[in-house]
Amino acid sequence: MAYKHLIDKDRCKGCGLCVIVCPKKVLEISNELNAKGYFPAHQARPEDCIQCAICCTMCPDVAITISEIVEAAEAQK
Ligand code: SF4
Ligand code: SF4
Repeated sequence: MAYKHLIDKDRCKGCGLCVIVCPKKVLEISNELNAKGYFPAHQARPEDCIQCAICCTMCPDVAITISEIVEAAEAQK
């Protein structure tokens, strides 16, 4: 099963909570402003993400989602 981790950068207010709680140190605060004028979080090391969803649970602005990706081969079953 594959998963996609997505941060809606324009919902993010750059509080940094997700960066602090990530056990794998995947997240960092970006140095580019979003539409609201905040520096949003992004996955600096996506290859290290274990999809534990702690960041999603922690985000006060519900800016992070993890969704299941249905593989092409599976979708044909
Ligand atoms: S899902 Fe877990 S490992 Fe991945 S970025 Fe969020 S807290 Fe870090
Ligand atoms: S916890 Fe949410 S609002 Fe705060 S930096 Fe992370 S994604 Fe942005």
